[in-house]
Amino acid sequence: MVENNGQSQNNNTYHNGCCTHNGENIDKVLQTYEDFGDNHFLSSVNTPLRPDAFDLSDEEKIAKISEHFYEIMHIMGLDMTDDSLRGTPHRVAKMYIKEIYSGLNPDNKPQMRTFENKYQYNEMLIEKDITFYSTCEHHFVPIYGKAHVAYIPNENVVGLSKLNRMVQYCARRPQVQERLTVQIAEELKKALQTKDVAVIIEADHMCVASRGVQDVNSNTITTQYHGKFKNEKTREEFLKHIYNK
Ligand SMILES: [Zn+2]
Repeated sequence: MVENNGQSQNNNTYHNGCCTHNGENIDKVLQTYEDFGDNHFLSSVNTPLRPDAFDLSDEEKIAKISEHFYEIMHIMGLDMTDDSLRGTPHRVAKMYIKEIYSGLNPDNKPQMRTFENKYQYNEMLIEKDITFYSTCEHHFVPIYGKAHVAYIPNENVVGLSKLNRMVQYCARRPQVQERLTVQIAEELKKALQTKDVAVIIEADHMCVASRGVQDVNSNTITTQYHGKFKNEKTREEFLKHIYNK
Protein backbone atom coordinates (compact mmCIF):
# COMPACT_ATOMS: atom_id res chain seq x y z
CA MET A 1 0.00 0.00 0.00
CA VAL A 2 1.37 3.39 -0.90
CA GLU A 3 1.14 6.42 1.30
CA ASN A 4 -2.16 8.12 0.89
CA ASN A 5 -1.82 11.85 0.58
CA GLY A 6 -4.65 14.34 0.33
CA GLN A 7 -4.64 14.26 -3.43
CA SER A 8 -5.38 10.58 -3.81
CA GLN A 9 -8.16 10.80 -1.25
CA ASN A 10 -9.70 13.53 -3.33
CA ASN A 11 -9.43 11.38 -6.40
CA ASN A 12 -11.11 8.49 -4.67
CA THR A 13 -13.90 10.62 -3.31
CA TYR A 14 -14.39 12.14 -6.68
CA HIS A 15 -14.64 8.96 -8.68
CA ASN A 16 -16.23 6.94 -5.93
CA GLY A 17 -14.99 3.70 -7.52
CA CYS A 18 -17.73 3.85 -10.12
CA CYS A 19 -16.05 5.06 -13.29
CA THR A 20 -14.76 2.64 -15.87
CA HIS A 21 -13.27 3.30 -19.27
CA ASN A 22 -13.18 0.30 -21.56
CA GLY A 23 -12.99 -2.02 -18.61
CA GLU A 24 -10.25 -0.09 -16.82
CA ASN A 25 -11.18 1.04 -13.39
CA ILE A 26 -10.22 4.70 -13.08
CA ASP A 27 -9.41 4.33 -9.42
CA LYS A 28 -6.94 1.62 -10.31
CA VAL A 29 -5.33 3.86 -12.90
CA LEU A 30 -5.11 6.73 -10.42
CA GLN A 31 -3.71 4.37 -7.79
CA THR A 32 -0.98 3.39 -10.22
CA TYR A 33 -0.13 7.06 -10.51
CA GLU A 34 0.19 7.31 -6.75
CA ASP A 35 2.72 4.49 -6.83
CA PHE A 36 4.98 6.58 -9.02
CA GLY A 37 4.36 9.93 -7.39
CA ASP A 38 5.88 12.89 -9.15
CA ASN A 39 8.81 11.09 -10.73
CA HIS A 40 9.21 10.82 -14.46
CA PHE A 41 9.70 7.36 -15.76
CA LEU A 42 9.70 5.63 -19.10
CA SER A 43 7.45 2.61 -19.52
CA SER A 44 7.99 1.56 -23.14
CA VAL A 45 9.51 2.62 -26.47
CA ASN A 46 6.08 2.71 -28.06
CA THR A 47 3.61 5.29 -26.91
CA PRO A 48 1.15 3.30 -24.80
CA LEU A 49 -2.00 3.31 -26.94
CA ARG A 50 -5.02 1.04 -26.64
CA PRO A 51 -6.03 -1.12 -29.63
CA ASP A 52 -9.23 0.93 -29.94
CA ALA A 53 -7.33 4.25 -30.01
CA PHE A 54 -8.69 5.25 -33.41
CA ASP A 55 -12.18 3.81 -33.31
CA LEU A 56 -13.57 7.32 -32.85
CA SER A 57 -13.18 9.82 -35.67
CA ASP A 58 -11.30 13.06 -35.07
CA GLU A 59 -14.61 14.92 -34.99
CA GLU A 60 -16.06 12.55 -32.38
CA LYS A 61 -12.94 12.94 -30.25
CA ILE A 62 -13.08 16.72 -30.49
CA ALA A 63 -16.73 16.72 -29.37
CA LYS A 64 -16.02 14.45 -26.39
CA ILE A 65 -12.87 16.28 -25.29
CA SER A 66 -14.72 19.60 -25.50
CA GLU A 67 -17.32 18.30 -23.05
CA HIS A 68 -14.72 17.07 -20.62
CA PHE A 69 -12.59 20.19 -20.87
CA TYR A 70 -15.68 22.30 -20.24
CA GLU A 71 -16.22 20.21 -17.12
CA ILE A 72 -12.64 20.74 -15.91
CA MET A 73 -12.95 24.50 -16.30
CA HIS A 74 -16.37 24.47 -14.66
CA ILE A 75 -15.09 22.47 -11.67
CA MET A 76 -12.31 25.03 -11.19
CA GLY A 77 -15.04 27.60 -10.78
CA LEU A 78 -14.67 29.43 -14.07
CA ASP A 79 -17.76 31.14 -15.38
CA MET A 80 -18.29 29.31 -18.65
CA THR A 81 -20.88 31.81 -19.81
CA ASP A 82 -18.15 34.48 -20.04
CA ASP A 83 -17.50 35.42 -23.65
CA SER A 84 -13.77 34.98 -23.29
CA LEU A 85 -14.06 31.38 -21.99
CA ARG A 86 -17.00 30.09 -23.94
CA GLY A 87 -15.00 28.92 -26.95
CA THR A 88 -12.05 27.51 -25.00
CA PRO A 89 -13.17 23.87 -24.56
CA HIS A 90 -13.73 23.39 -28.28
CA ARG A 91 -10.57 25.32 -29.15
CA VAL A 92 -8.48 23.13 -26.82
CA ALA A 93 -10.08 19.91 -28.08
CA LYS A 94 -9.42 20.83 -31.70
CA MET A 95 -5.83 21.84 -30.90
CA TYR A 96 -5.24 18.51 -29.13
CA ILE A 97 -6.47 16.32 -31.97
CA LYS A 98 -5.48 18.35 -35.03
CA GLU A 99 -2.23 19.88 -33.82
CA ILE A 100 -0.33 19.14 -30.66
CA TYR A 101 -1.33 15.44 -30.33
CA SER A 102 -1.80 14.73 -34.03
CA GLY A 103 1.33 12.55 -33.92
CA LEU A 104 -0.59 9.87 -32.01
CA ASN A 105 -2.40 8.94 -35.21
CA PRO A 106 -0.29 6.92 -37.68
CA ASP A 107 -2.40 8.42 -40.50
CA ASN A 108 -0.52 11.66 -39.87
CA LYS A 109 2.91 10.12 -40.30
CA PRO A 110 4.93 12.02 -42.92
CA GLN A 111 5.59 10.17 -46.15
CA MET A 112 9.34 9.54 -46.16
CA ARG A 113 9.78 9.02 -49.88
CA THR A 114 13.41 8.23 -50.54
CA PHE A 115 15.47 8.80 -53.68
CA GLU A 116 18.26 6.78 -55.13
CA ASN A 117 21.59 8.09 -53.85
CA LYS A 118 22.79 9.08 -57.32
CA TYR A 119 25.66 11.29 -56.17
CA GLN A 120 27.05 8.39 -54.16
CA TYR A 121 27.08 10.77 -51.21
CA ASN A 122 28.13 8.57 -48.33
CA GLU A 123 29.36 10.97 -45.70
CA MET A 124 27.17 12.00 -42.83
CA LEU A 125 24.31 14.38 -43.41
CA ILE A 126 23.31 16.51 -40.43
CA GLU A 127 20.14 18.45 -39.90
CA LYS A 128 20.66 20.55 -36.80
CA ASP A 129 18.59 22.91 -34.65
CA ILE A 130 15.22 21.41 -35.59
CA THR A 131 12.73 23.21 -33.37
CA PHE A 132 10.08 21.00 -31.83
CA TYR A 133 7.22 21.32 -29.38
CA SER A 134 6.02 18.36 -27.36
CA THR A 135 4.12 17.69 -24.15
CA CYS A 136 5.24 16.01 -20.93
CA GLU A 137 2.92 13.04 -20.54
CA HIS A 138 3.18 13.20 -16.75
CA HIS A 139 2.08 16.80 -16.34
CA PHE A 140 0.59 17.80 -19.71
CA VAL A 141 2.73 20.91 -19.97
CA PRO A 142 5.16 21.73 -22.80
CA ILE A 143 8.52 20.20 -23.51
CA TYR A 144 10.27 22.17 -26.23
CA GLY A 145 13.69 22.51 -27.67
CA LYS A 146 15.96 21.50 -30.49
CA ALA A 147 16.70 18.21 -32.15
CA HIS A 148 19.82 17.42 -34.13
CA VAL A 149 19.67 14.40 -36.38
CA ALA A 150 22.20 12.80 -38.69
CA TYR A 151 22.49 9.80 -40.94
CA ILE A 152 24.97 8.27 -43.31
CA PRO A 153 23.19 7.39 -46.56
CA ASN A 154 23.71 4.10 -48.31
CA GLU A 155 21.36 3.39 -51.23
CA ASN A 156 18.78 6.02 -50.39
CA VAL A 157 18.53 9.68 -49.49
CA VAL A 158 15.53 11.67 -48.36
CA GLY A 159 14.34 15.26 -48.83
CA LEU A 160 15.78 17.35 -45.99
CA SER A 161 12.47 18.75 -44.79
CA LYS A 162 11.31 15.16 -44.15
CA LEU A 163 13.78 14.92 -41.28
CA ASN A 164 12.16 17.96 -39.64
CA ARG A 165 8.72 16.54 -40.27
CA MET A 166 9.55 13.20 -38.69
CA VAL A 167 10.89 14.96 -35.57
CA GLN A 168 7.71 17.00 -35.32
CA TYR A 169 5.46 14.01 -35.90
CA CYS A 170 7.08 12.10 -33.01
CA ALA A 171 6.95 15.23 -30.82
CA ARG A 172 3.22 15.76 -31.29
CA ARG A 173 2.30 13.22 -28.66
CA PRO A 174 2.25 13.12 -24.91
CA GLN A 175 5.91 12.22 -24.43
CA VAL A 176 8.90 11.65 -22.25
CA GLN A 177 12.10 12.97 -23.75
CA GLU A 178 13.89 9.63 -23.69
CA ARG A 179 11.11 7.96 -25.66
CA LEU A 180 10.91 10.84 -28.12
CA THR A 181 14.64 10.43 -28.84
CA VAL A 182 14.33 6.67 -29.34
CA GLN A 183 11.22 6.99 -31.51
CA ILE A 184 12.85 9.52 -33.85
CA ALA A 185 15.93 7.31 -34.25
CA GLU A 186 13.82 4.21 -34.95
CA GLU A 187 11.61 6.00 -37.50
CA LEU A 188 14.65 7.35 -39.34
CA LYS A 189 16.36 3.96 -39.39
CA LYS A 190 13.24 2.43 -40.88
CA ALA A 191 12.61 5.17 -43.42
CA LEU A 192 16.22 5.55 -44.57
CA GLN A 193 17.00 1.84 -44.46
CA THR A 194 20.22 2.40 -42.60
CA LYS A 195 21.42 1.75 -39.07
CA ASP A 196 23.72 4.75 -39.21
CA VAL A 197 21.54 7.28 -37.44
CA ALA A 198 22.15 9.71 -34.59
CA VAL A 199 19.74 11.90 -32.64
CA ILE A 200 20.40 14.50 -29.95
CA ILE A 201 17.63 16.35 -28.19
CA GLU A 202 18.08 19.39 -25.98
CA ALA A 203 14.86 20.36 -24.28
CA ASP A 204 13.28 22.54 -21.64
CA HIS A 205 10.54 21.00 -19.56
CA MET A 206 7.89 23.37 -18.28
CA CYS A 207 7.05 20.89 -15.53
CA VAL A 208 10.56 21.51 -14.16
CA ALA A 209 10.72 25.23 -14.91
CA SER A 210 7.30 26.49 -13.90
CA ARG A 211 6.39 24.15 -11.06
CA GLY A 212 8.04 21.47 -8.90
CA VAL A 213 11.69 22.44 -8.44
CA GLN A 214 11.16 25.58 -10.59
CA ASP A 215 14.58 25.43 -12.14
CA VAL A 216 14.46 27.67 -15.18
CA ASN A 217 18.12 27.21 -16.08
CA SER A 218 18.41 23.48 -16.46
CA ASN A 219 17.77 21.67 -19.67
CA THR A 220 17.83 18.01 -20.54
CA ILE A 221 19.94 16.33 -23.21
CA THR A 222 19.26 12.86 -24.57
CA THR A 223 21.11 10.99 -27.30
CA GLN A 224 20.79 7.96 -29.54
CA TYR A 225 23.76 6.69 -31.56
CA HIS A 226 23.30 3.76 -33.89
CA GLY A 227 25.46 1.90 -36.39
CA LYS A 228 28.57 3.86 -37.39
CA PHE A 229 27.75 6.59 -34.87
CA LYS A 230 28.77 4.19 -32.13
CA ASN A 231 32.28 4.67 -33.49
CA GLU A 232 34.00 7.40 -31.47
CA LYS A 233 35.46 9.27 -34.47
CA THR A 234 32.15 9.39 -36.33
CA ARG A 235 30.36 10.57 -33.22
CA GLU A 236 32.97 13.27 -32.61
CA GLU A 237 32.56 14.56 -36.15
CA PHE A 238 28.80 14.78 -35.62
CA LEU A 239 29.21 16.58 -32.30
CA LYS A 240 31.78 18.96 -33.75
CA HIS A 241 29.35 20.08 -36.45
CA ILE A 242 26.63 20.69 -33.90
CA TYR A 243 28.52 22.37 -31.10
CA ASN A 244 31.50 24.13 -32.71
CA LYS A 245 29.86 27.07 -34.35
ZN1 LIG B 1 6.61 16.49 -16.43
